[in-house]
Amino acid sequence: MTEKIYEALKKAKSLLESKNLDTHAAQLLMEHVTEKSSAALLADLREPLTTEQQTAFWNKTEELLTGKPVQHIIGTEQFYGLSFEVNEHVLIPRPETEELVFGALEHSRKFPTFRVADIGTGSGAIAIAFKKERPDALVTATDISEAALDVAKRNAKRNGVDIDFRQGNMTEPIEGEKWDVVLSNPPYIAWEESKEMSTTVLDFEPHSALFADDDGLFFYKQLAKKLPLLMSEQSLIGVEIGYLQGPEVSELFQKAFPDARVSIMKDVNGKDRMIFCEIGE
Ligand code: SAM
Ligand code: GLN
Repeated sequence: MTEKIYEALKKAKSLLESKNLDTHAAQLLMEHVTEKSSAALLADLREPLTTEQQTAFWNKTEELLTGKPVQHIIGTEQFYGLSFEVNEHVLIPRPETEELVFGALEHSRKFPTFRVADIGTGSGAIAIAFKKERPDALVTATDISEAALDVAKRNAKRNGVDIDFRQGNMTEPIEGEKWDVVLSNPPYIAWEESKEMSTTVLDFEPHSALFADDDGLFFYKQLAKKLPLLMSEQSLIGVEIGYLQGPEVSELFQKAFPDARVSIMKDVNGKDRMIFCEIGE
């Protein structure tokens, strides 16, 4: 007799809990293995697993217990209502970053046809979600990592959007042109902070996507230095930040764009998470 769904879930959650790992991962894994939505799973908790489902669930739970992110086991993550392929070469897109996309879309309503750049695109999350919502925008996405760009290109195809992908260091691939919207979620974690990070992030996500020199401010300094030459007369910059970086990053942009409206925005958890810099009228 195979286990019922709720029995396997309960056992897997307590194993994860004993290792201080995220218990919700068991739920996501079960949805994947049974091919059920979260609502359907809830309704079917007392159903037995098939032998194949049970074997698959426990094999994959073993992987979860090593700290591996559930998104790497399933192979995808949801972002802005879209499905993105993820692997060890890209940051798993975070819910906070959806708020950057939302804010950028709100601020961009006034733009007619316009050119957008996403610097450090990783899985392509920001660029692809933006393009999906504003098909009239011409979207360019860059990354220093070829391996990340390969994933991002597959994600653009998967979601049926056309993005101009360019490889290179920071603003290099977008120089010599003018941009109406520049977005970036650059690496911003200070190296010292690695002590407090979970193994699920530290051992499985690319460090080149997470950490930055200068107490995590390195990339904002680069952007503040280079972007003044690249922004069109009426334009917008939106960057994600670490929750303690609001004052410093807004000052960097205010100095680079003295006449711009620079604002610090909070995420749903009430933490400073984004800076928007509105240039021109
Ligand atoms: N935009 C994605 C997101 O929000 O989910 C990924 C963000 S991740 C925090 C930062 C990305 O910047 C990584 O994909 C990393 O490869 C890229 N990156 C790191 N250093 C870079 C550099 N010098 N120039 C361009 N991209 C860089
Ligand atoms: N928010 C990510 C984390 O907490 C970090 C993303 C970044 O450095 N841009 O792991």
